[in-house]
Amino acid sequence: MKCDNTYFTGNGVVPGIAIGRAYVLSKRSVSPSLKHITEHEVEFEIKRFEAAVERSYAHLESIKAKIDSHYHDPGHIIEAQQLMLKDEELRLSVCQAIEQRLVNVEWALTLALQKYEEVFAGVEDEYLRERFADIHHLVNNLQRNLSGAECVRLEPPPDAVVVADEISPAEAIQLGRAAISALVTQKGGRTSHTVIIAKSFEIPCVVGVKEIVQDVGTGDLVLVDGAEGSIILNPCLERVQEYRLRMHKNFALEQSLISQSRAPATTLDGETFSVYANIDFSEDADTALSHGAEGIGLYRTEFLFISKLREALDEEVHYHDTKKLLSLWGSGPLTIRTFDLGSDKFPIIRQEIPLESNPALGLRSIRLSLVKRDIFKKQLRGILRAWVQYPETDLRFMFPLISGYDEFMLAKEVLIEAQTELEAQGHEIPEPLCVGSMIELPSAAMQADLLATECDFFSIGSNDLTQYAIAVDRNNDAVSHLFNPLNVGVLRLMKRVIECGQAAGIPVSICGDMATDPIAALVLMGMGMKIFSVPPGFIPHVKRLIRSVKREEITRLTRQGLGLKSGHSMEKLFREALEPIIAAESPHP
Ligand code: PEP
Ligand code: MG
Repeated sequence: MKCDNTYFTGNGVVPGIAIGRAYVLSKRSVSPSLKHITEHEVEFEIKRFEAAVERSYAHLESIKAKIDSHYHDPGHIIEAQQLMLKDEELRLSVCQAIEQRLVNVEWALTLALQKYEEVFAGVEDEYLRERFADIHHLVNNLQRNLSGAECVRLEPPPDAVVVADEISPAEAIQLGRAAISALVTQKGGRTSHTVIIAKSFEIPCVVGVKEIVQDVGTGDLVLVDGAEGSIILNPCLERVQEYRLRMHKNFALEQSLISQSRAPATTLDGETFSVYANIDFSEDADTALSHGAEGIGLYRTEFLFISKLREALDEEVHYHDTKKLLSLWGSGPLTIRTFDLGSDKFPIIRQEIPLESNPALGLRSIRLSLVKRDIFKKQLRGILRAWVQYPETDLRFMFPLISGYDEFMLAKEVLIEAQTELEAQGHEIPEPLCVGSMIELPSAAMQADLLATECDFFSIGSNDLTQYAIAVDRNNDAVSHLFNPLNVGVLRLMKRVIECGQAAGIPVSICGDMATDPIAALVLMGMGMKIFSVPPGFIPHVKRLIRSVKREEITRLTRQGLGLKSGHSMEKLFREALEPIIAAESPHP
């Protein structure tokens, strides 16, 4: 057997170790050729287009039908693709090309794709740019089925390491169902739908691995480290043994942590903290519970808008989605954040809003909700109606990116309006209405005392609070070295929020990514934070961290650290004082 330990690297986007045989997916695209048609053939070509759309739609339907309740369609991605297939704009551009340029449908699709490409090429937003890949897959599928080729059925053997140039979301779902052990692609960004699916199926995944397809053959032995973003092709015996050992150790550690995750997070000196889950899709409530979540601290409802496109403008979609969430959830607080669209999170409704030169400071989050009040109200009505059926649930409403007292009151007014309307229509809305604010802007942090008179709780969004306090774009690699929630200014803002919450007697939680970092989580604890909300996979780790420290020691260290001149000094202080504990927590899941 060949054994040369060829090393590849890319972006590790879903952590985990995998050992398996490569299953290489060859290029699945076709190259359509241009054919001029006569005016008499226009109708025929349009009919061919419509038939191809129906065939592709049916193919997606058959994939959807195979997705059982366990292997769900994360974010309803297949449905989103079906919607895209029937999109009026796509139809219009294809039909216009057939009619006006008198070309065959295959070529009309290529022209339509070029048009989309031009529009997307000028877009800076990574998430948006990746939506072009979705359209590309879709057009490719249509061209394939027009050429008479069968829709590709992917049937890799279980435990295969799938290697491909790129993978469409529909293909990723088929692969997830096939129980592959890892996914490696040459193209694809961190926020693509394919990655979202890989995360949902917990498939270790590395994207952006240059020129791997040409070097790997189906059947080759491959080692994958999804955290590090590395791949070893044709490894020697020692490397395989090393990876096998790491895999077993990781698995045993995760299992033992998960088995203890339902127990409370109590420090060595007897103080108990709450650990909640952040979820992006309603069906993730299941995972949250199995990982020991005592509450949902953040449900990011905007993913519904991103994946369900225009449908999410409908009250019914929110009603059904919340009903699903409530039916899966047990006891404990369940915090639904109203849609946080705009800026880096692209919503379909932004198409109706002029392009902004500075979207991070533009019409996003609650500002967008207050401008698109009708859509906002529909979301609130849908959630409230679902709650009527589960009145015992401790449901909480949370507004994103609140800048101050007035804005919070305006948002709350819409919620009360929705409640009053529904009650007038005979719905019995449960009591009390619990309404809180994300604290993600320095202006909100500085007036936390005022906000506390109206808010039932606060949740610190450290991702945005850090971004806005330091003026450092959270998505920009060039300034990522400046993005530090332990920056003295940011910590002072957070401390103020915690103290204002304590003075007013309302709960304060952290739901930003900061809480997944062991040192930052301890600093928050030292400043008085009592509730930590993190992605489900991190819950067992945060609980273990809390159980391994003394509250009194953390408070003392934090007090000392807050007197230092930089976040890095604070970090050093904690690292030196708690070295073995911090080391045990790295790397995270
Ligand atoms: C945050 O900003 O910290 C937060 C939790 O919200 P999001 O990451 O969704 O912007
Ligand atoms: Mg935020």
